Amino acid sequence: MKILLIEDEISTAEFIVDGLKKENFAVFHIPNGLDGLFEACNNYYDIFIIDVMLPDIDGITIIKKIREKNIQTPVIILSAKNSTEDIVSGLRAGSDDYISKPFSFIELLARIKGILRRMNLNFSTSTILSEGNLKIDCLKKKVFRDNKEIILQAKEFSLLEYLLKNKGIVVTKQMIIDNVWNFDFDPETNIVEAKISKLRNKIDKNFKNKLIHTIKGLGYILEDKF
Ligand code: CA
Repeated sequence: MKILLIEDEISTAEFIVDGLKKENFAVFHIPNGLDGLFEACNNYYDIFIIDVMLPDIDGITIIKKIREKNIQTPVIILSAKNSTEDIVSGLRAGSDDYISKPFSFIELLARIKGILRRMNLNFSTSTILSEGNLKIDCLKKKVFRDNKEIILQAKEFSLLEYLLKNKGIVVTKQMIIDNVWNFDFDPETNIVEAKISKLRNKIDKNFKNKLIHTIKGLGYILEDKF
C-alpha cells in the first residue's frame, strides 16, 4: 500500500510517516505543493494525504488539478483551520475524507482504513455482513437476527451497516455523523443517540446477548461478546 503525503510541517510529517511505516505502509513525503502535485501526477499511489495550507500552492488547488487529470486516487485532506468552508471546498474539489488538526494517529489510521475498506467493497462480490446471529444483506437491504427478518428504516439500516462494517472497532459519534449522515450536520443534536436507541430496540431488545455496546466517552461498538 503506497501513500503520498504532501505536508510542509516537518514535525507533523514525521509523526505521520513514522506511524504509517509501523503499520507497514510505504509512505513518500514531499514538503511542498508543486513537487507534491508533480509526484501525484507522475507516480502511482493508493492514497494521497494532502495538507491544505502549503507555502506555494494550497492543497485544494492540488486536488482540483489531480482530478482534472482524471486521477481518481482517494484523497484525505489535513485541515489546520477546522473550518467548515475549508472542508466543503476540499470535498467539492474531489477529496474523499478530511481530518482536522490536531488529530491523533489512531484517527488518521481509521480514516485510511475506512477508505481502503470502501475501495475493497467496490470489488467485493459478497454483500452479506454478519456478527453472531445478526446478518445483513447490503444489496437487498434486509436484516436478519436468528434467521428472523427485522424491518429497519433506511437510516437505521445505514447506521447498522456502518457499525457492522466496523465491527469490533469503537466508532465515535463524529465518525458516525461523517459516514451515515452528511458532514454538514450539526453535531450538537442527539440524532445519533436517538437513532442508536431505535436500532437497539429493533435488533437487541428481544435478544439475550446484546450486539451494540456504548463505550462511555468514546462512542459505540458492535460486537458479539459471547
Ligand atoms: Ca501546512
